[in-house]
Amino acid sequence: MATINENFLKLQAGYLFPEIGRRMRAFQAQNPDAKIISLGIGDVTQPLAPAIIEVMKKAVDEMGAAGSFRGYGPEQGYDFLVEAIIENDYNSRGVDLERSEVFVSDGAKCDTGNILDIFGLDNVVAITDPSYPVYVDSNVMAGRTGEANENGQFEKIVYMPCTAENNFIPDLPRSHVDIIYLCFPNNPTGAVATKEVLSKWVDFARSSKAVVLFDAAYEAFITEPDIPHSIYEIEGAKDVAIEFRSFSKTAGFTGVRCAFTVVPKQLKADTSDGRQVEVNPLWHRRHCTKFNGASYVSQAGAAAVYTPDGQKQCRQIIDIYMGNAVLIRESLGRLGYEVYGGVNAPYLWMKTPKGVSSWEFFDRLLQKANVVGTPGSGFGPSGEGYFRLTAFATPDNVKEAMERFATV
Ligand SMILES: *Cc1c(COP(=O)(O)O)cnc(C)c1O
Repeated sequence: MATINENFLKLQAGYLFPEIGRRMRAFQAQNPDAKIISLGIGDVTQPLAPAIIEVMKKAVDEMGAAGSFRGYGPEQGYDFLVEAIIENDYNSRGVDLERSEVFVSDGAKCDTGNILDIFGLDNVVAITDPSYPVYVDSNVMAGRTGEANENGQFEKIVYMPCTAENNFIPDLPRSHVDIIYLCFPNNPTGAVATKEVLSKWVDFARSSKAVVLFDAAYEAFITEPDIPHSIYEIEGAKDVAIEFRSFSKTAGFTGVRCAFTVVPKQLKADTSDGRQVEVNPLWHRRHCTKFNGASYVSQAGAAAVYTPDGQKQCRQIIDIYMGNAVLIRESLGRLGYEVYGGVNAPYLWMKTPKGVSSWEFFDRLLQKANVVGTPGSGFGPSGEGYFRLTAFATPDNVKEAMERFATV
């Protein structure tokens, strides 16, 4: 008889977004005339930039001609893309990388989950609370946790609360940890880490021989000049950090699929008998064994993001979203809400009115304003009493949603 991986049974049943969908559909069924506006899900809405489309169409034509057809590409990604990434995202910020340190993939979500394959099951994992749900769930699936308690927190994970009291920047763990997840600009809180904050974490990881898994999926949304876009802008980070990036939010690739992960050559971790091993060759082996490369058309499109037109057009699209963020911030501020984020990230993290839980606020907003957001408690217990709004809707919808917010 085949048996299952019972770790999957530990996962929390009701996932956040299906429950939001269920409540939305129930409301719509009872109020067929209501025009619901969603500021909920973290997906982009603007179409791909014309410079990207042009290159992708050409790539499709190449695939249709005998002389230029391509089958399997290099598992790590085509040189034309890897070189564009290194030059534009890293060299421009004073960071040198070798081609073999960059791994192109079809998504940062898969990479943040898959990276766990190469680390031992006995590592103690530290995760911010609230956080992107993938970090917790992928560790549960791998068997790195015990059962969940009544708050939905898993045994053996070290949770690092992020609230208004610490400016949504986690405090250093007081107990020993081996793997640390950091995401800046943050989903869901919209917080960013200064050079000082990141230096503190890099130093901590170096002194405790921990690895930092740094999710920088939103770096393109940083508007303030002194905020690091990559953890490798911090001295010593290459010894301890793996960085995840994605074209999903940067260039609207959520439906195209292309991302990359940087694993520096100098990053090492221990064997159980205390030998130091380079991590990069392990990830290379894992990537080449279980993955066969992102599609040529996607990679061609991703490389077009770095052309002058691609850069200009992607910037214009991000500016649309960040214009929405400013409007949400200012409107809610005028209405007396406490609002965080939205300056260097497409996420706004607002405090619910006193005594109103995240889900109660969700229902109130849906019923009174026909606006949907995401209850903060869905991202972890420290998100209770908060509510996430995203800046990804169209400007007209955001404007209307803000007018309706006044009636809540
Ligand atoms: C959207 C998002 C990603 C990107 O995931 P893809 O699989 O590349 O689309 C990664 N991390 C966070 C925190 C995100 O919100």
